[in-house]
Amino acid sequence: MNEEKILIVRCGEVALKGMNKPYFERMLAERIHKRLKAAGYGKASVKRHEGLIFVRFDREWETMQLAGEISKVFGVASISPAVESESKMEAIGTEAVKFMERLCEERCVRTFKVEAKRADKQFPIKSPDIARQIGGYVLKGLKVLKVDVHNPDVRLFVDVRHDKSYIYSDKISGFGGLPLGTNGKGLVLLSGGIDSPVAAWMMAKRGMMIEAIHFHSYPYTSPRAQEKVEDLAKIVASYCGSFKMHVINILPIQEQIVKNCPEAETTIHVRRFMMRIAEKIAERNSAMMLITGENLGQVASQTAEALVVTDNCVKMPVMRPLIAMDKIDIIAKAQEIGTFETSIEPYEDCCTVFLPKHPTTKPQLDKIEISDSKLDIDTLVENAIAEEEIINIRA
Ligand code: ATP
Ligand code: MG
Repeated sequence: MNEEKILIVRCGEVALKGMNKPYFERMLAERIHKRLKAAGYGKASVKRHEGLIFVRFDREWETMQLAGEISKVFGVASISPAVESESKMEAIGTEAVKFMERLCEERCVRTFKVEAKRADKQFPIKSPDIARQIGGYVLKGLKVLKVDVHNPDVRLFVDVRHDKSYIYSDKISGFGGLPLGTNGKGLVLLSGGIDSPVAAWMMAKRGMMIEAIHFHSYPYTSPRAQEKVEDLAKIVASYCGSFKMHVINILPIQEQIVKNCPEAETTIHVRRFMMRIAEKIAERNSAMMLITGENLGQVASQTAEALVVTDNCVKMPVMRPLIAMDKIDIIAKAQEIGTFETSIEPYEDCCTVFLPKHPTTKPQLDKIEISDSKLDIDTLVENAIAEEEIINIRA
């Protein structure tokens, strides 16, 4: 009898990591355990076994709630609620009948197909025969069911392993990617828009820990605009764990730019200051890359020329995971991860303060640097950082 419920977690790309596979699997198991603990399921057991992760938990707990938590852990390819049996045909057959019986109570099932896999090659029966024999048990136990090998209502998977075998039917998709913490830390420039939360999420999905920086122009931008960014940051944190958000008032810098530089260059100078400040804060907080939601050609400050000039003022690599995506796909991703509704709340961003009427779309570095020489860049950067506020964003 199964005293506990089981979820089988498949590791996706982690499984391809060659020599580093145990490390990635261990990280993934740790992340799953951490996430379950935070959701109040700390007593669930999370164990790696032969390339899979087995989560065992109290039979009173709601399976789909645990599966939902696990599906948000980066590195998880898919999850299946499963039952365990002795690796003997009769035992597997008995469990398969019980499994199908339960399924028939939950949903309308008329046809099924058994698909068997034999991880233990010593097992004396080959996979097609296992499938056929288990199908026989089910047909005998549940007379209303029929086999349909082409379009069955239920695919019943039987995974025969050396010590135990597993029976399951549903596969709940995860996001794939790599476990958090396997790829350094990045500082995301987080605005209140649609793009930057998606950019942060995409880098976190590749295993990168996230920290954020947000710029405002208070009192031109409102406290509510900042609260909206905090709301977005919280949604991002629900995937990548709690993180720090550095909040900087960029207004004094904007005022100097407006006073000293040609109007058409305003945006590009503001963006270069954002990069400079972000780089300093990243260095001081052990982040190795900057992340932005920039996207080629989306707005005047994101033409190829503008991006080159923006990059030129920092040494740190700038990751732009959305660079070649279409807006419609970015929006679909934002909807999928749950940031879209918050992103479209209508609050102003510091970039819209002092917006030039005709921004230059093809800035030239030499001209921009002439304007730079009119500004005390180092002092402006240090003064802005000296006033930083740090907000702890809780997952
Ligand atoms: P988003 O939807 O992310 O706001 P956007 O299309 O509105 O993007 P911009 O406003 O030009 O584009 O900003 C480009 C990128 O610069 C953003 O994705 C973000 O990474 C960064 N950025 C813009 N405004 C801010 C801000 N106020 N604080 C921090 N980063 C910002
Ligand atoms: Mg924006």
